[in-house]
This record gives sequence, C-alpha cells and structure tokens, in this order.
Amino acid sequence: MVPQARDTDILILGAGGAGLFAALHAHKAAPELSITVAVKGLLGKCGCTRMVQGGYNVALAKEDSIERHFMDTIEGGKWLPDQDLAWKLVTLAIERIHELENELGCFFDRNPDGTVHQKAFAGQTFDRTVHKGDLTGIEIMNRLAEQVWARRIQRLEEHRAVELVKSADGSSIAGVLFIDMRTGEYLFVRAKAVLLATGGGPTMYRYHTPSGDKSCDGLAMALRAGLSLRDMEMVQFHPTGLLAGTHTRMTGTVLEEGLRGSGGYLLGGDKQRFMPNYDPKAERATRDFVSRAMFSEIRKGNTTPHGGLYISMAHLGPERVRKEFKGMVERCADCGFDLAGGLVEVVPTAHYMMGGVEFAADCTTSLPGLFVAGEDSGGVHGANRLGGNGVANSTVFGAVAGDAMAEWVRKHGRLSSPAELDTGSYERPFSLPRGDIEAIREKLYDTMWERVGIIRDAAGMKRALGELDALDAELDKTGIGTQARAFNLSWHDWLNLKSLVSVSRVITQSALAREDSRGAHYRDDFPDTSSLEASAFTSIKADGRVTMKPVTFTRVRPGQSLLQHAA
Ligand SMILES: Cc1cc2nc3c(=O)[nH]c(=O)nc-3n(C[C@H](O)[C@H](O)[C@H](O)COP(=O)(O)OP(=O)(O)OC[C@H]3O[C@@H](n4cnc5c(N)ncnc54)[C@H](O)[C@@H]3O)c2cc1C
Repeated sequence: MVPQARDTDILILGAGGAGLFAALHAHKAAPELSITVAVKGLLGKCGCTRMVQGGYNVALAKEDSIERHFMDTIEGGKWLPDQDLAWKLVTLAIERIHELENELGCFFDRNPDGTVHQKAFAGQTFDRTVHKGDLTGIEIMNRLAEQVWARRIQRLEEHRAVELVKSADGSSIAGVLFIDMRTGEYLFVRAKAVLLATGGGPTMYRYHTPSGDKSCDGLAMALRAGLSLRDMEMVQFHPTGLLAGTHTRMTGTVLEEGLRGSGGYLLGGDKQRFMPNYDPKAERATRDFVSRAMFSEIRKGNTTPHGGLYISMAHLGPERVRKEFKGMVERCADCGFDLAGGLVEVVPTAHYMMGGVEFAADCTTSLPGLFVAGEDSGGVHGANRLGGNGVANSTVFGAVAGDAMAEWVRKHGRLSSPAELDTGSYERPFSLPRGDIEAIREKLYDTMWERVGIIRDAAGMKRALGELDALDAELDKTGIGTQARAFNLSWHDWLNLKSLVSVSRVITQSALAREDSRGAHYRDDFPDTSSLEASAFTSIKADGRVTMKPVTFTRVRPGQSLLQHAA
C-alpha cells in the first residue's frame, strides 16, 4: 500500500507531558518552524500524564534543596541513575513548575500563607510533592492541551506511529510512518527532527496501571531503528492495584500509596497481617519491598477469591477513611468493595518502566535528528523511580527536547529522502487465517507475570524467552479475520502485541544479564546487591546482546553525599 506523504520541520510522537511540553517549547524557541504532534489517541485525553494522581516532585521550600532532591533520586535509584540527567531533572523541575503555574495556568493546592502545598511521598527525605488534590495530571494536561490548541501547532490525532524511517543513506532520521487509525491508511511524515515521547508503558504484565493506548510502540520502533535501550530490567510494581476480576478494566488500577502510609493493613487470604514478618516498616516499607512480600504470599497460596490479598482500613475508623480517601472509597464501591469498613482485594501492579532509550542530557540519541523524552527514555531514575519524579521527568525533558530540536533544525535541519517504505509487516494480519489474539495476550500476561515479574530467576527467565519466541511465531500465523481498515481494533491489538512481545524480550534478556538484585529488580538466585562502587547498567540492542556499562559518578560517589555542601 502506498502511503500518503507530508512534510513538517519538527515531528513529535506522543501527546503526554513530554510531547506537549516539547511542542510548546519548540514553538516558543522557533515560531517560524512547522511543528506537528502525532498521537495514537486524542490530544489531551490519552497517555499516563493525565492519570497522575499524587503529584510532582520539586525542591521549592526554603528548608529543601536541589541537592537533597538529587540525593533522594540517586539513593532511591540505587546508584544506577545517570547523574547528569538526574541533576538536570532536579534543577529544571523548579523552572517547569513555575512555568506550569505562571505561564500555562495550572492551579496547585496552596497553604494558608499562599505558598504551594507540598506533600510527603515515599522514599523522600522532604515533603516536596506539588499536587492538585489527587487529580494533578488532569490539571497539568488540560492546561497544556489548551495552550497547544491556541498555537499554530499541527495535530495528527488517532495516528499510530509504526516505524522510525531513516534517510536513504542511513545517516539520520527522515521521518515516521503512521497508520491513520480512522481510515486504516498509511501516512509518511517527513521531518527534520523527530521526538520519541510515546511513554513506554509495561502493559505486558497481567496487572498494570498505564493507559490502554500504551504498548511500548516507541521502544519497539527504537530497537528496530538500531538504538540501545538501558535499564530495561527495571520495571516498577505498585503494591496496591485493585483486584476486581477479569470483567472490569478497573482491575490493576492504583489504590493510592497514602492508604498504606496512613496506617492501612495488608492481609492474606487468611485475613492475618503478613507484612511485619517481612520488614520492620511493615506496610510502610518502599514499593519494591511491599510488592515482593505480597508476591511471596500469593505464591504461597495465601490468597483472596480473585488470587490476591486484602487491604484493610476499617481499624482507622470508617468515617476518617471516607473523609480522607473519598476518591478511593468511591472507586472501590464502583467495584463492589467497602474500603472504609470492609476488605478490598489488591494485587501488585506493573506501573512504570525506568528503562528506555539511551540519551544525552540534551535529549539527543545515537540517531542524528531523533530525540527522546519522558517514559520512553532511560537513565534518569536508575533502579527505582521515586513517586512524583515521573511527571517531573516528562515535563523537564520534554521542554529540553523542544528547545534542542528548535536549535537543531535551525542549524542542521534538512528534509531527507527516506529509505524504502515497506508496509508489508503491518498488513500481515489481513492475509492470515483468523486466530485468537486474546489467547496470545493471556499467554503473554502469564509469562511476564510469573517469570519476569516481581521475583525472577535464571530458569524462569530462560523459559520465558522460549515462550516469547513461540508467542511471536504464533502472532505471525494469526490473522484478524476482517478486511475492514477503519478503527479496526483487532488490527491494532495485533500491532500492540507485536510491540509488547519485542519489548518483553529485551526486559527478559536484560534481567538475565543483571546477576544481582537492586531496586525494582529482584533475583531469587542472586538476592544480594553487588558493589555500588562498581555499579553498571545494562544496555541492549535488538539482537538481544547485553553490554554492562559502568555508571560514571560525575557528582557524587557511593558512600558520599552532596548534602554537607548544600546551602
Ligand atoms: C495511574 C498512574 C498514576 C501515576 N501517578 C504519578 C504521580 O503521582 N507522580 C508522577 O510523577 N508520576 C506518576 N505516574 C507516572 C507518569 O504518569 C509518567 O511518568 C509520565 O506522565 C509519562 O509521561 P510521557 O509524556 O512520557 O508519557 P504519556 O503521558 O503516557 O504519553 C504518551 C503519549 O504517547 C502516545 N502514544 C503511544 N504510542 C503511540 C504511537 N505508536 N504513536 C503515536 N502516539 C503514541 C499516547 O497516546 C500518549 O499520548 C503515574 C502513572 C500512572 C499510570
């Protein structure tokens, strides 16, 4: 099928915090350039930035400091973060939060004295999380989308990027191939600079929190384009995903951390507390510890009717729970649970990928003209992301990418002829006999949850690699049984699974290569953390070979702190 074609100066893939900040900054830096935002869903309505509940980490208070935010990020990331990226995150978060309030029109919660209210979030030594109630992401996304709509920025909504296309000589990016989901036709957009900001999203696990439009497409495209991904074994699980059966999409969605923070108990199927047996901090331990303890109880078979565990809040007083956690009480009631007075079934749920495309502090990648920002990028968080550092990451580096792309296009930008465009691999499911895509998805969920999830070992992961190869082969024989192209969701499910299987493979290969346990990555066969001083991160390409690259401690070494030098 011959694609339609059009040209733009700057092409942005994804319309979350990273994509929209990039669009606004590129437009401000170079208003003469044409900018196009292309997105799988509707601009402003899709992706995970909209789902941000808790808030945005930033060192605003006099008693806090960027050094303290930096040290929390490095120690939380178990010394794997790239220190220059982490430094950029904590310093520029201050500029971005001021921009969000003073230029873009966000209203965050305030203290009686007019200062911005900042709340506590796990793993931080200071209460620095800026928020708008527990709907922070909606406030940020609504204001960003309005500002984008108000400017001369082109939009390609319901356009799914399927391939990063290099120039004919292979030396740079030439543009991106899309499927217009509304018609099923192909579109090739030629561009001088392209931003990958499709938001990762570990939706290959049985229980997961990210939005349904995220299927790791960006990471799969980056692999095919020859880029390296780092830290791919680092998948963060949130301990309390709602477990309400297979009939509802509410299963897997997050019940916020504040429930455990304020004194909620986790109970096994026998209705007894188990966390004190695992960690002295019990339910208040960090996400990775709690998820691991929960997974161990589930493996022992001490489970609820749906195969999870319970959270219990009633001992805190139902009235207090109703008042403090109104949204959570309503969410549980929608699924037939009484959070304030009864028990709610929960399960750890895949939440965030710390890994992603290797990139430099100006968001450039190894492919000239291709930039990356947000959850598609790797290296900012290392082995663990602090709650509140996710949206800071996407907005900070989205803005950096916008500025950098504007400068790049002014200095070097040219439209290149693309390498040959081939739509054959995406057309495949139209010509194959109809099969059961849902069954393939279920098998993928089982493989990733059981063997490459919260507790891993070599035998399980080797088995997983065999299962992933078999699933890929099965997909290649599975058709969708229809020729309709417009809004063909079975076709897009097939494409989603292709991306998810390919990224599941690199998660598994990276996890096999890391023979220690740290942060989100825990191996039963290598339970100890190896020397922090010799910290190295995994770097993987599409051929599956993993290189361990040493972390360069550019600002602080393990055992040291920047805090004694802080103001
Ligand atoms: C339930 C939930 C709660 C969270 N709470 C917090 C919190 O309190 N604090 C915090 O810091 N972080 C939180 N996070 C994490 C945070 O949401 C992310 O780190 C951040 O928003 C990611 O921004 P992004 O721009 O990279 O991606 P997203 O905002 O996810 O945007 C990705 C965009 O890419 C588009 N896209 C995907 N595939 C394609 C394709 N093939 N072609 C074109 N477009 C594509 C999507 O449609 C979407 O528009 C939370 C996440 C979840 C799921």
